[in-house]
Amino acid sequence: MAQYELRIAHLYGDLMNTYGDYGNILALKYYGQQMGVQVDSAVVSLDTDFKAADYDLAVFGGGQDFEQSIVSKDLQKKKAELIKFIEAGKPMVAICGGFQMLGNYYIDANGDKMPGIGALNHHTEQQHDNRFIGNISIKNGDNGDTYKGFENHQGVTFLGAGEKPLGQIISGYGNNGQDHTEGAIYKNVYCTYFHGPILARNGQLAKRMLLTALHNKYPEQDFSKQAALKVPESY
Ligand code: GLN
Repeated sequence: MAQYELRIAHLYGDLMNTYGDYGNILALKYYGQQMGVQVDSAVVSLDTDFKAADYDLAVFGGGQDFEQSIVSKDLQKKKAELIKFIEAGKPMVAICGGFQMLGNYYIDANGDKMPGIGALNHHTEQQHDNRFIGNISIKNGDNGDTYKGFENHQGVTFLGAGEKPLGQIISGYGNNGQDHTEGAIYKNVYCTYFHGPILARNGQLAKRMLLTALHNKYPEQDFSKQAALKVPESY
């Protein structure tokens, strides 16, 4: 029996799972095991009750516009608890469609507007007859991390008050192809357009999320041994 236990809410894991975003769950479990932590996950989907207190981490994958339109409606019922989760400083990774839905709104490829939950202050506009597709790499100037992945999105996202980008573009398009930003960070929420999946290819981010969750849940404990875990370079 592992000494520590963490529980992941896999938000709409049955609907939002583009390009193997499920691999993010596997990466958290894999690095958790190396840290002596039992990591469990449960899919939280349409009409499932979500309580912030039941989970230590959350993963929200990407999706196509059709799935997003269904999720957008259901999300409004979970909005208050999701905001509670985020404001409590619990770590979450939100990818592409998930990233878009945490913001104020998303305009889909047909020009239809879907409400997000406004937990973060960005919004996502439509591109006309264009998608941003390809490999991408970015650097976070604050913590020195470099992240690598693959992006495929039509939406163009503009960050708002209180948000910092996940990183500055080294190569690729990122949030909008204009301001050289990619993704968003607010409290311990990491938003990104990276599939691939981001935590499998960028172990340092998985480790950062796990350490944050451990410190939140077990504030009296010393996690220096877990913090010393070596993870592979981003690839
Ligand atoms: N449907 C959204 C877009 O095209 C998100 C796509 C995704 O999650 N890969 O922008």
